[in-house]
Amino acid sequence: MNAFDYRDGVLHAEDVALPAIADAVGTPVHVYSASALRHAARAFSSAMGGLSSARFAFAVKANPNTAVLRLLADCGYGADIVSGGELRRAREAGMAPADIVFSGVGKTDREMADALDAGIGQFNLELEEEGRVLAQLASLRGRRAPAVLRVNPDVDGGSHAKITTGRRESKFGVDITSAADLYDRLARCDGLELHGVALHIGSQISDLAPLEAAYRRIGTLIVELRARGHHITRVDLGGGLGIPYRPEDRMPSLADYAAMVAGLTRGWDVGLTFEPGRIITGLAGILLTRVTWVKPGAIHPLVIVDAAMTDLARPALYNAYHRFAAVTPDGTTMTATLAGPVCETGDLFGVGRSIDRVGRGDLAVFHATGAYGSAMASIYNCRPLSPQVMVDGGAFTIVRDRLSPPEVLSATPAATAP
Ligand SMILES: *Cc1c(COP(=O)(O)O)cnc(C)c1O
Repeated sequence: MNAFDYRDGVLHAEDVALPAIADAVGTPVHVYSASALRHAARAFSSAMGGLSSARFAFAVKANPNTAVLRLLADCGYGADIVSGGELRRAREAGMAPADIVFSGVGKTDREMADALDAGIGQFNLELEEEGRVLAQLASLRGRRAPAVLRVNPDVDGGSHAKITTGRRESKFGVDITSAADLYDRLARCDGLELHGVALHIGSQISDLAPLEAAYRRIGTLIVELRARGHHITRVDLGGGLGIPYRPEDRMPSLADYAAMVAGLTRGWDVGLTFEPGRIITGLAGILLTRVTWVKPGAIHPLVIVDAAMTDLARPALYNAYHRFAAVTPDGTTMTATLAGPVCETGDLFGVGRSIDRVGRGDLAVFHATGAYGSAMASIYNCRPLSPQVMVDGGAFTIVRDRLSPPEVLSATPAATAP
């Protein structure tokens, strides 16, 4: 489905004309489509629905907006969290603790204790010592912590180096060659209820082959662990499926992914957990911005918009591409460099791009910003955090106000202090 389309020459979000949002809320603003979110969430869970006792834990880091999380909770999703802050967000959104998975390579003792007290469903362990500390924390509470071991399968996800996580030298997971011995040792800890393994080899993966290779290695490991007498009841296959950012991008279909998973895991006799992030929210959001200036440049004119790397960091971080489009295009194009106002040479959204012709004051959007967009926002240059709007049919609501830097700082809850 395409929630962002032109009607009578004006770009809409569902039934709402984008200039109406700009008038009411100002720019820049992140705009989400509720029906696109529901559609993506249901498409994913129904594609995997044939798999035995599948669970869906949305990777909160992709979009931690509470309204987004609430909508996904209504679609049957739990959460994959990587911090105490995300635990709070998931719970505020009404996600049941049992449906929360705690990933991440640097969980602090405090975060693990809070997650234990909340009664979350699964800890994904990253190293042996973490497992021992978690076991102690659980024993102190007279409990056993439900956990799986995150394994690094030594497979390159094939995407950008900064978002590939499954190579041996990456910081994530334990080396698959020593995983069975490590599992033996952790399984002897009284405070742990170890019930399987997890992996996640990276993000924006555009080819099923690396996922398939990684899952195959996990299958071999499961056989080995069972031969050593362990009860393996759950395997967490992570997230990572890519989305088309460029018109020519071709991504594996959900049906192909589901068929690959079904075929490979048929004999595993485990419940599967999925941790999709980008594929759920990525295409359901846009960043609406206004052109501040068109400045003559040495090679191309510079289209300077009011959105910056502080609203959308992916281009500056990973050279990521986000399609730029005018809200009321006149049918002509120009070649330009797209820049934000932040005082960083890297605050660019594209160099020498062919775009809809725009001039000072025009509205435009960056497409596919619903994942890792607002989630990575900062107040660098003392810029406010941009507001976020949810469109549902012909109505829209502000689901997060614009926050000035003093508001952001004063909103820091005391509970995050050590
Ligand atoms: C980031 C992350 C995900 C989600 O990745 P996507 O590419 O957004 O699907 C899932 N699991 C873990 C452990 C992650 O770090």
